[in-house]
Amino acid sequence: MGTESGVFTLAELSAMDWSRDDIAQARRAGTLISVTRGWVRSPGADSRVVSAVTAGGALSCVSALRFHQAHGSPGIWIPPGHSETHVRRSKHMKSAARPTGPFRWCQGFGRPLPVTTAVDAIPTALNCAARCLGAEEWIAVVDSMLNTTGWTVPDIQAQMGTVSKTVAAMFARCDERSQSGTESIARLRLHAAGFRVDVQPSIGGREHADLRTGALLIECDGRSYHSDENAFRNDRRRDRMTTIDRWITMRLTYDDVLYGWDQVLEDIRAVTRPDRHRIRRGNDPRRAHVASP
Ligand SMILES: [Zn+2]
Repeated sequence: MGTESGVFTLAELSAMDWSRDDIAQARRAGTLISVTRGWVRSPGADSRVVSAVTAGGALSCVSALRFHQAHGSPGIWIPPGHSETHVRRSKHMKSAARPTGPFRWCQGFGRPLPVTTAVDAIPTALNCAARCLGAEEWIAVVDSMLNTTGWTVPDIQAQMGTVSKTVAAMFARCDERSQSGTESIARLRLHAAGFRVDVQPSIGGREHADLRTGALLIECDGRSYHSDENAFRNDRRRDRMTTIDRWITMRLTYDDVLYGWDQVLEDIRAVTRPDRHRIRRGNDPRRAHVASP
């Protein structure tokens, strides 16, 4: 785990059947280079990971999640921003140098696990990210993991060590059906505003919308973590189904949800208010331009 980084502990090399002689020989040949006491790297090692280990810890938190996204878990959703190198400090490693560029020391909830690998495993990284990310962002990240990796909440929790009350409460708000970060955050914000929300409701028996509240379907940008080539065609087919069943559909972008939520909420309230049909018949002068004859 994390060995794709090219940074290893001597114990990891030993577990991969490297003898002391093999290691000494590789060091002489320059195919293994010392990083700090007990750690070595290959010449092409990931520079961020080298930087984290040199600083005296493991690449963790959002940075580790981004690493795992690039190495075998492409479905993990990572919120924009958070571009600093997030490092979880080891009690036993000495800092040889600060990481180059912006970085952040991170710490998870509960008793810290020892640093045994250069890149924290996903559960440890999530525990750290629970402090560095906002709750909505963190839940959206976990939703994406549950949706794309086949892991369950108990799987993740079992490998997290301690699961604090804060983290357990956030896990309880996760939903493995969610298909994009935008959808997760829209769902959480609708819940917070007091809406009852159906996730991935069935449309016409075959298709699924992202979210439904009342008679309003909400489709979110970046609909699928997988973003497969059939998405466009499926969207069109779903549009036909919703038209036949006379649903109202609202499409939201990530920016709508993150940066324009007040307006979005106002629009959703306008569409879902119980007297909307009277308004459509022209009783509300503010909406006279949409009145039916
Ligand atoms: Zn962090």
